[in-house]
Amino acid sequence: MNSIKENAAVADESKFEYERILTGDRPTGPLHLGHYVGSLKNRVRLQDKYETFILIADIQALTTNFEHPERLKENIFLVALDYLACGINPNLSTIIIQSMIPEIAELTAFFSMLVSVNPLRHNPTIKTEAKERGYKELTYGFLGYPVSQTADIAIFKADLIPVGIDQLPHIELARKIVRKFNELYNCNLMKPFALIDKFSKLVGLDGNLKMSKSYGNAINLSDNFDLIKTKIRSALTDENRIHPADKGNPEICTIYSYHRAFSNENLIRETEYDCKNGKIGCVKCKENLFKIIKELLEPMNERRSYYLNNKDEVWDILFTGTKKAGLIASDTLREAKESMKISYSFS
Ligand code: SF4
Repeated sequence: MNSIKENAAVADESKFEYERILTGDRPTGPLHLGHYVGSLKNRVRLQDKYETFILIADIQALTTNFEHPERLKENIFLVALDYLACGINPNLSTIIIQSMIPEIAELTAFFSMLVSVNPLRHNPTIKTEAKERGYKELTYGFLGYPVSQTADIAIFKADLIPVGIDQLPHIELARKIVRKFNELYNCNLMKPFALIDKFSKLVGLDGNLKMSKSYGNAINLSDNFDLIKTKIRSALTDENRIHPADKGNPEICTIYSYHRAFSNENLIRETEYDCKNGKIGCVKCKENLFKIIKELLEPMNERRSYYLNNKDEVWDILFTGTKKAGLIASDTLREAKESMKISYSFS
């Protein structure tokens, strides 16, 4: 953890003041509990402290889903609905649709001149993601998505980026690109810092290291309670435990890792003790977890129902946020082009 803290790209809230957060998601489908633990919960907390911009990155979604652009509109709506259900407050957070800010694409083009291909190829996050997706050949768009992420950050003048530790190489690259741009053209674009979130990952129901829609091992925030109960019942536990009186090992159990993410300290301690000493069966342990998750999701479902009955309000929130962010984007692009001495126009 020390080496993370000492990394120049990592924010130190005890020493410096930051103003604007940028965070976001690719709209590839409904969000799940992994998203909640990894980022949404944190965003709800952070929106009270910092000006928060949340980008629904529909263009970036095409880097892995380019065959189905027709699904984007529905997915943008579903992601926005998940945000609002979780407690993202549109009065505190600005939600933005990426493709409606053309300035991002223009800044991406400028930034792409400053990055050679090899560091992108060797970027550990890109390599891991390509491997997970089974990509043998990388498209230009996929390989270059950290460059477009840099443009996302710079265009909105964001100085704080909440990320999991695996995303740190992207922030380091973003800082390098912005620094190079600033030095080369005597510009003053904002260099971002990473705000590392310690609960960055939730394992999948199958025990896979990552909960993911594409692995089919996720509990979606929008799943109904019957489905959630069924999913929890099917989750991988300590396979060596046959009878409730068998002594178990919670450290290798998916359900225990969920208890650690969602339950209170007493229940976590009790679960660990009872499992290790054969005092609780997995069925009961899963029921306990279901109750906790139900309590978490109930208020979210209330907000979700409200917005489902008022869909226009959701689009209104998206368009208002995008319009507000668009003003900052055009300002940044003007500054960038002026510094490059290419701010000519027809007039
Ligand atoms: S009792 Fe709970 S923690 Fe232990 S193996 Fe079963 S489900 Fe996992």
